[in-house]
Amino acid sequence: MNVPTGAIDVMQHGAFDRIPAPTFVLELIDRHEPNAFRCSYVNPAFRALVDADGSMTSAQDCLPSSAVLLAWQYLEAAVESRTAIRFQDRLTYPGRVLELVVDPIFDRDGRAVQFIGCAQDATNTAELAAQLEFAQRHDVLTGLANRTTLHERLGEAISHTDIFGTTVGLILIDVDDFSVINDSLGHEAGDEVIVALARRVESVLRFGDLVARIGGDEFGVICHDVESREAALNVAQRMIESIAMPIAVAGTELVLHASAGVVLAEAAGDDPHRLLRDADVALLNAKRQGRNRVAGFDSEMRVEAVTRLDLEQDLHRAVQNQEFRMVYQPLVELATGEIAGFEALVRWEHPTRGTLSPIEFIPLAEQTGLIVELGEWIIVEVCNQAAQWQHSGRALRPFVTSINLSARQLAHPDLIGTVAGAIAQAGINPSSIELEITESILMHDPVLATTILHALRALGVRLAIDDFGTGHSSLGYLKQLPVHCLKIDKSFVDGLGIDPDDAAIVDAVVSMGHALGLSVTAEGIETVQQRLLLEELGCDLGQGFYFAKPQPASISGTLVARALRWVAHNQAA
Ligand code: C2E
Ligand code: MG
Ligand code: MG
Repeated sequence: MNVPTGAIDVMQHGAFDRIPAPTFVLELIDRHEPNAFRCSYVNPAFRALVDADGSMTSAQDCLPSSAVLLAWQYLEAAVESRTAIRFQDRLTYPGRVLELVVDPIFDRDGRAVQFIGCAQDATNTAELAAQLEFAQRHDVLTGLANRTTLHERLGEAISHTDIFGTTVGLILIDVDDFSVINDSLGHEAGDEVIVALARRVESVLRFGDLVARIGGDEFGVICHDVESREAALNVAQRMIESIAMPIAVAGTELVLHASAGVVLAEAAGDDPHRLLRDADVALLNAKRQGRNRVAGFDSEMRVEAVTRLDLEQDLHRAVQNQEFRMVYQPLVELATGEIAGFEALVRWEHPTRGTLSPIEFIPLAEQTGLIVELGEWIIVEVCNQAAQWQHSGRALRPFVTSINLSARQLAHPDLIGTVAGAIAQAGINPSSIELEITESILMHDPVLATTILHALRALGVRLAIDDFGTGHSSLGYLKQLPVHCLKIDKSFVDGLGIDPDDAAIVDAVVSMGHALGLSVTAEGIETVQQRLLLEELGCDLGQGFYFAKPQPASISGTLVARALRWVAHNQAA
């Protein structure tokens, strides 16, 4: 834009009439009075831009008062500096955005008494900028705010806690097992579900609160002015309940669950990063407590989370460094006391923490996906070990070696190939390997589990249901499963001889197992009474510290070679 500047007699307006650039002149009437600043002239090009229907009669009508006020504010600086400072700004008219460049015009005494401005139509650029800004701050699929916006708004909300003495609640919500929807129904259906869930979460909000989509199946909610921790937990609870209502998608009806983590910012010193991290820790806790629930953050969780983070980093390294080893616990035939097999159990030889139990790291390996790699190593290692025992020719009778499978392994498409490959490479009979799947994993997705179990069964391996009695499977479902063995959970064995209910349960499981043609193993036998009772109830196999703790392969190997029998009343016969 080429704007004339300098001490010219702008009242000779005609000079600008033919200028193609939309131009206007502002004139000072009273320096100390904003309203005394007026637009004294607009050229035809300017008028054409802002007054398409010719309804604006005076030049003053053509420039909104905001522009005039702006010029008045600039005047101060122009007069002070006595230089031709150029001002730029944007003005919004109905349906139009103008970009203005305004220059002061000085009189002979060096006073800025008039301003000359040029305008440029910036409507399209402004629209684009607005669209760009919207895209940068919103989630395309749901139209909700995105993580950037949540972060900013959280910062603002925290600073308000100081001014108004209020409390801000942050809720993070994650849909449980959402990947299953994408995997089974496709991404389009997955998107449809996310949009529906977004609307449900929104419907629980109060006016002024904000919900953002901050990950594929994760939402963040800022609740302003919450009365208490309980109140925030209640809002979160209502949100996960709204998610759990049935959803019709892709011709079927789904019920989804979600977990939520809640944290309160009470002091202005809180920062959004920390709040988000704490809410995330609470969310993880809710997931670990069994999902479909809400957890509020407390500071103990943070310590736990740091330890967890360390452990998670170590776990990545451990898989590379092969810090895992297997131990083997004998499975004993109760009627004869002979070893009928071993259960392989994994241990982590942590360089600084010592030996870690699988309970401490398998769930973490599951969550991080490392279980797939670790699980593959376990399968290959155990098959090779079983081959070594079998090929040594020292075993007195055929025996089975069992391997535990985790949920994620079971769902992994490579599982069948890994098992088949390990067995073939070790050169062992598939029926000498048993795979243990817990009843709760089976019940999590019975249809998928049944399909995979059939595929595994086709390889010729044996299958066992682990921790039986804790997962509420029905007799009808069990009947369809191609399994060989039920392993009664230790919690029922513990009560034998003490709680008559437990004896009744074990009795029922043994009878039911046998009726279905399955072998029944009792886990966690610690006393001779338990062993005798189980034998009496007809349980086939037993496992527990009463017989032997899990031991390294070398010791288990010597057990295989000795005609060892655990005779009741005389443990080391
Ligand atoms: P599980 O498969 O039910 O294994 C039995 C657990 O009970 C083992 O614990 C075993 O050491 C313990 N146990 C056996 N007899 C007794 C007893 O008389 N008293 C007591 N108190 N405990 C007894 P461990 O080795 O700590 O394994 C815990 C769980 O971790 C296993 O439960 C299994 O679910 C999982 N796990 C172990 N190894 C593996 C593995 O290689 N892969 C996978 N995916 N999971 C594994
Ligand atoms: Mg097991
Ligand atoms: Mg078990």
